Order: sequence, then structure tokens, then C-alpha cells
Amino acid sequence: MAFEGLTERLQKTFAGLRRKGKINESDVRDAMREIRLALLEADVNFGVVKDFVKRVRDKAVGSEVLDGINASQQIVKIVNDELTATMGEKAVPLNKSDKIPTVIMMAGLQGAGKTTTVGKLAKYLEETEHARPLLIAADVYRPAAIKQLQVVGEQVHAPVFEMGTDTDPREIVRQGMAKAREDHNDYVLIDTAGRLQIDEKLMQELADIKEIAHPDEILLVVDAMTGQAAVDVAKGFNEQLEITGVVLTKLDGDTRGGAALSIRAVTGKPIKFTGQGEKMDALDVFYPDRMANRILG
Ligand code: GDP
Repeated sequence: MAFEGLTERLQKTFAGLRRKGKINESDVRDAMREIRLALLEADVNFGVVKDFVKRVRDKAVGSEVLDGINASQQIVKIVNDELTATMGEKAVPLNKSDKIPTVIMMAGLQGAGKTTTVGKLAKYLEETEHARPLLIAADVYRPAAIKQLQVVGEQVHAPVFEMGTDTDPREIVRQGMAKAREDHNDYVLIDTAGRLQIDEKLMQELADIKEIAHPDEILLVVDAMTGQAAVDVAKGFNEQLEITGVVLTKLDGDTRGGAALSIRAVTGKPIKFTGQGEKMDALDVFYPDRMANRILG
């Protein structure tokens, strides 16, 4: 899909201003409308856009930007800085335990990319820390999920702990944790079940797994293509599970990535990684300034 970037939009809005030299209230109003549209087209949540535009307006009106020929660029800069700040300014590393194993638990809706991300993270940890992670298959509702984790585990040369689909996921995690301690794995990555939407029984199961495994990191995996809906998912999971970070997947698609802004604004939790494809090396550390550029286009 072709988007018109905010820079272009604002240049048009401010095209007539070079001669006038000054910007009045209605110019600001026009600029804010363009910003609102650009953010909505980038799939940022309505409520988040509203708050965001208000903050930008307050900054723009109070600043010296409102005269001179660079008005549009300067407003773009304010928007860019505010986007970067809202998304956390800097990359946030994974939490790490003082003693092994560091436990990372995945959560998210079905199809978001949890299993794939477990494999990618294993590879990332192997490459950046020479880690030896154990992958735990705790999604017992989709028989294919265990097989899928095994395939992923083979690709990244990481062992997979599984007990088939007849054992309660809590028990699988309990035994998987014991196995990791026995084998001195430095990381445990837990793949959990997802549903099509947030569901009480699943949330209870995830809360129980959290209780058992004491994860250092609960990563919510969210499909960036879900756009506006990502907010409800992030809010729901965060309220019930208290996530510690987010992985935003499928950014290789044609989304502008507005979900990143929405999720961070609503949960306050950092996005730590992005998924950029189906392959095991398609995982990137999340940088707020780069995402700001992408959202603005
Ligand atoms: P789960 O149900 O949350 O475990 O999701 P899966 O890991 O099974 O992923 C669902 C689908 O999304 C699979 O076809 C994955 O290959 C695909 N997928 C996961 N992450 C990405 C990504 O970053 N980009 C793309 N294009 N596809 C992804």
C-alpha cells in the first residue's frame, strides 16, 4: 500500500506559508489534522492518536516553530521527537536473572508468532551470548504446535522439552524447569498456548505458569498487522499477566507499525524486539527512533 508520508502532507499544508511568514491558529489546526490522519493511516489506535496530537499541539504552539519557512519540517521534528519519546527513547535489553536459568515466557494470541519468536530468540541468545537455551513446549491445545517447536528447535540447535498433548501445561513447565536446572541451561524459553481472543481459562493457565516458572521476562507477542486491535490485546494481557516487554512481529508486511506506538502508550511496557520475517534470523532489537521514522514515512 502506498502511503503519503507526514513530511509530504505537511509540506502541502504549509505550502502557502512561505510568503506569509507567520502561522496562525487555523494553520496549526490544519497541521494537526494532517498528523492525525497520518497516524491513523499508520494504524495507531484512535485514543492514542487523540492524546498524542494534543501533546504535539501543546509543544508546537508554545515553541518558536511557528514562523519561518521551515515550519513543516519543524513540526515533523516535534512529532518525530514525541513519537520517539513515547516509544521509550532507547532500546531496552532483556531482563536477566542473577542465577541461571533466566526464564522467558511468551504470551499472545494464536498466530501472533510465539513459536517462531521462541526459535528466533534462542538463535539470538546463542549468537550474542553463546547461550544454551531449553525450549519448553507448553501449548498442548494445538497438536501441531509441539511439532512446530521441535522443527524450530532443530533449526536453531536448541533442545525442546515436551510431554505431548495429554499433560497439563503447568506440569510440563514444572518438569521442564527441573530439566533445565539439571542440564544447567542458562535460558528457558516457554512457548505457551494462544487463543483467537483473550479468554479467561487461558489467562488463568498463563497466570499459573507464571507462578510456577517465575519468569524474568514475560514477552507479549503481537502481530503488527492487527493495527488498531493490538491495543485491546496488549491491555488485556498486561492487566492480567503484567507483561515485561513486547515483541512486535510481521513488520516485514506492509504495515507502518503504528501498533508500536499504541502498545507502548497503553501499557507503558517496552517493545524489545521486532519480527521481520519467518526465518530464524528475522529478529531485530527495537529502536524507538527508527520506528518513529517508519510511522511517519
Ligand atoms: P503462534 O501461534 O503465536 O505460535 O504463531 P506462529 O509462531 O505459529 O506464527 C504464525 C505464523 O506467522 C507462521 O506462519 C509464522 O511463520 C508467521 N510469522 C511469525 N513471525 C513472523 C514475522 O515476523 N514475519 C512474518 N512475515 N511472518 C511471521
